[in-house]
Amino acid sequence: MRPLSYSRPSTIEQAVALAAHEPCGAFLAGGTTEVDLIRAGVAVPDHLVDINDLPLYAVEELADGGLQIGALARMSEVARARAVRERYPAISRALLLGASPQLRNMASLGGNLRQRTRCAYLRDGVSPCNKREPGSGCAALDGFNRGHAILGTSEHCIATHPSDVLVALVAFDAVVRTVGPLGDRSIAADDLCLLPGETPELEHSLEHGELIVGIDVPAAPIARRSVYLKVRDRASYEFALVSVAAALEVSDGVVTAARLALGGVATKPWRARLAERTLVGAPADAASFRRAATAELERAIVRRHNAFKVELASRAVVRALSEAAA
Ligand code: SF4
Repeated sequence: MRPLSYSRPSTIEQAVALAAHEPCGAFLAGGTTEVDLIRAGVAVPDHLVDINDLPLYAVEELADGGLQIGALARMSEVARARAVRERYPAISRALLLGASPQLRNMASLGGNLRQRTRCAYLRDGVSPCNKREPGSGCAALDGFNRGHAILGTSEHCIATHPSDVLVALVAFDAVVRTVGPLGDRSIAADDLCLLPGETPELEHSLEHGELIVGIDVPAAPIARRSVYLKVRDRASYEFALVSVAAALEVSDGVVTAARLALGGVATKPWRARLAERTLVGAPADAASFRRAATAELERAIVRRHNAFKVELASRAVVRALSEAAA
């Protein structure tokens, strides 16, 4: 048995200091990920800093049309907030499709952004896994990799990022606000997660003891008709095989602006910038949407069991963009 201490501070500064002070200090919010990982032996904190007393629950509408969301706001609260539903329906939908109602009531938005991959080899505690034990290898490369990534992979890790809502936040240029031992930072949501490269054990750009305190979503009129499409093996309580956050502006049948991000296919929420560039100036029709998907997915590297994701992602992009255009 490993000793594990616990504290429940009432200020952000105390929380950061407590987590940073211990070599393996970790934050505890809803506990829906962290407790799982501790039970599986994947996370081995020596001190848990319970942050549930911190004043980080508000979901605020900004006068300019943007949003400011506290990191401790529960997924269910954010999903049903009127401003989120009206201004960013894709964010609301991604949250609703992201977990069971019980989990949505417990899980915080900040925790959702920090959740770790669901790769079974990471969690089984015995298979070679460069994330769990750097240098040990990657069991998924030659193992069962049906759910693994086709974009952003390396020879060291092909695990997908599991978040739904982060896909939508990346599509709309959200910014993650943090407080850490070295001060405050603002990190583009697109830069929060790291590609595995040669260091798959480094999953995000946060420093030890750095706490996500909020998420800002800038005003984006294009997002008012956005969609979030999730394709999975069963209708609920399942991670995405492919997901798409999409929004379009169309004038006289021609795309004038596009936002597109993919989940379930990449090692981080994947902003499909090549596809976006392909779309702008093209007719808003299925042929253009297919061309955009192809442009993005040309770089896909498939493994033994996940080649189907290329076509599945392409079809999902066409469907999501068609719904957004309609
Ligand atoms: Fe570990 Fe990544 Fe390989 Fe899964 S894909 S076994 S998380 S290194």
